[in-house]
Amino acid sequence: MSSAPDPAPPTRSQEYYLEEGDVIVRVEDTLYRFHSYHLQRATTYFDKLLENTPPASWQSRGGGDVDEFLIVIDEVEATDFEALLWFFYESGYRWSCLVDKSFDEKWKSTLLLAEKFSMDEVAKVACYALHRASAALGDIYKIALCVRHGLSKEWIRGEMERVISRKECLSADEARQLGFEMTTVLADARETSARLIPKPCKDTKMCIPCATTFLDGISIPNYRCHLGVHMCAKDRMHACKCDSTEIDRQPIIDAIDITSIDQNHLTSGASLQSRCDAWGSAQGDLFLKVEDKVVQIHSYHLMTASSVFTDMLALPTTSTIAREGTWANPITLEGENLDAWKNLLWFFYDSPYAWSEEVKSDDIPKWECILALSEKYCMKGICQVAVYALDHHNALTSVRKIGLCVRHNIDGSWMAQARRAVSERAESLTAQEAEELGIPLAMALVKDREQYLRALMSKLKSRKIAKK
Ligand SMILES: [Zn+2]
Ligand SMILES: [Zn+2]
Repeated sequence: MSSAPDPAPPTRSQEYYLEEGDVIVRVEDTLYRFHSYHLQRATTYFDKLLENTPPASWQSRGGGDVDEFLIVIDEVEATDFEALLWFFYESGYRWSCLVDKSFDEKWKSTLLLAEKFSMDEVAKVACYALHRASAALGDIYKIALCVRHGLSKEWIRGEMERVISRKECLSADEARQLGFEMTTVLADARETSARLIPKPCKDTKMCIPCATTFLDGISIPNYRCHLGVHMCAKDRMHACKCDSTEIDRQPIIDAIDITSIDQNHLTSGASLQSRCDAWGSAQGDLFLKVEDKVVQIHSYHLMTASSVFTDMLALPTTSTIAREGTWANPITLEGENLDAWKNLLWFFYDSPYAWSEEVKSDDIPKWECILALSEKYCMKGICQVAVYALDHHNALTSVRKIGLCVRHNIDGSWMAQARRAVSERAESLTAQEAEELGIPLAMALVKDREQYLRALMSKLKSRKIAKK
């Protein structure tokens, strides 16, 4: 007799089994331990399941037996779940001037689960990241995503044109993905497109019968391209069909209004309005006194971001000295600015959700604050993201961009563009700019400008000589 082998016991995720996590989730054979606030920040989907994980009481019992908080998520693959955690913990650091295609799979997994768990904000960010990276999603899927999440129609012009002009009709499976309204819109556009007559061809051709009889060197009658027919200028009987297949479908696409499609039945519509502004931070384990206020934060974030804080928080506490960083005994940060710290909290807790195509001037002061604070505490990863964010929101001049790229060791090709702009502009460097850049960098730019000017002059000279 043989019995079925015991299923393998679950193993802890190498990436995301954080000792300070207050929830354990099992997906396939992997255990993930992390901060439950991430799930609550993103969706109401897990609220019922998380009711039994009150972090405060759990922590007051010194951690306790965490197994009782185990949540099992079925019908999800571990790699996808890991990508969702990557979104929560790491994606905020991964935005840069370089579009890194190696994250495509992570974003696709994130999107898959974001849609499954009604995380609408997360899904939007994932769509933007995938669109920005020109990731292959398939025409129908991308159109469906744009409709479901109310994204820009400009993202799917190519996809819509292909779907409207292709031979095959929309399939039942595609209709399910698109929803009935968008299916109707596209089917209608396909019909309109089928009725369109090809554009007149650009080069008018010789009429062959006429060309052979009228080669007198004075006039060779041409076909006139009209409504898909070529008509000879000389003899109406010489008409033939136009071979042009070029159809202008842009007016059809222009007429499609995807914003009018009701999204409520497509997305969860679950409201996160009930969450307080400082969601996440309010569950933090570390209390810092900034100005006269106490700021609550997860020590995990500070320790991941900065070795300064890792060292500070690793200081041994003795029984004679009360533990620092608690509500009763917060760590006082002298000379710090409360607004700057609020912005840093925003970076940790909210910025992963804030990325989109939109240029928001309102976000500029936030990122300026974050940059200044991250420079002060040597948070290298945050400095780099902040520089990119400022550029994304059009807040950087070329000169400042060059200075920041050098200071924070950011990709050379991005800086090369800015350097070219400075060497080709009409005005020379101002004293203020030189001071901002520092002497060696300013001198390098002065040299760039001279070289560019010399090359320009010699080009002009050689052109004059050629004219003579
Ligand atoms: Zn003819
Ligand atoms: Zn033609």
